[in-house]
Amino acid sequence: MSLLNKYLDDFEKIYELYQGFNSYINISAIREKEEVFEKHFLDALEAWDLIESCLNQQESTEKPFKILDLGTGGGFPLIPLALVAKRENLNIRFTALDSVAKKLKFIEIIKEKLGLDNIETQAARAEDIARIDSPQREVYDMVLCRSVAYLNIILELAAPLLRIKGNFLAFKQLGENEFADAKNAIEILKFKLMQEHKYSCSGLDKALLVFEKQGRTDAKYPRLYSQIKSKAL
Ligand code: SAH
Repeated sequence: MSLLNKYLDDFEKIYELYQGFNSYINISAIREKEEVFEKHFLDALEAWDLIESCLNQQESTEKPFKILDLGTGGGFPLIPLALVAKRENLNIRFTALDSVAKKLKFIEIIKEKLGLDNIETQAARAEDIARIDSPQREVYDMVLCRSVAYLNIILELAAPLLRIKGNFLAFKQLGENEFADAKNAIEILKFKLMQEHKYSCSGLDKALLVFEKQGRTDAKYPRLYSQIKSKAL
């Protein structure tokens, strides 16, 4: 049985809350039920097998596996993944990061109504919490990122948050030139592309790019966002 069917009651409940919330604070242009299930729920769940296999490779199972969703917006891909992790009793802690505090309100509601105490929300910019003196630097086992910025930009935001051997999962649409443009960033930030998981979502060809961080991130990264953007690696 698919994960969506296994936890269908929970997903129906998330959809109901999403609909109610989206009608007064616009968290997403995706509204129709079928679209929400496909473009938010199923799309997020594409990462599940990869998360499970990274979790299984972890040496110690006592420490929680820490996942950060960078630019989570209304909580995607984070919410469906945190739901499954909670219901499957896995020791995973999720951080929902977004620079806009009001976007995190919906995640707070979901957390409360579905009892997802494995989620923490944080209103901050990724580059601010990734600086060299930050307690969040190089602590995450995995960083997820969907629809935030071009690949070379999000690689610079994600790298300093990941521990060595940690994984970065970028949700991308195929057919873009992004991977070729990110060659330099991948090298400088000591990433290695481990896997390209291709799938189709609502008729679109998509891919989950799975990177592993293979060495410590140089203290000069992340730079100020203005530089990250104007002088992208
Ligand atoms: N991941 C969600 C939202 C994408 S919209 C989805 O796929 O549906 C992009 C989000 O990234 C916005 O909510 C924006 O506030 C956030 N964002 C952009 N740059 C950011 C940064 N540097 N740090 C944290 N959040 C950021």
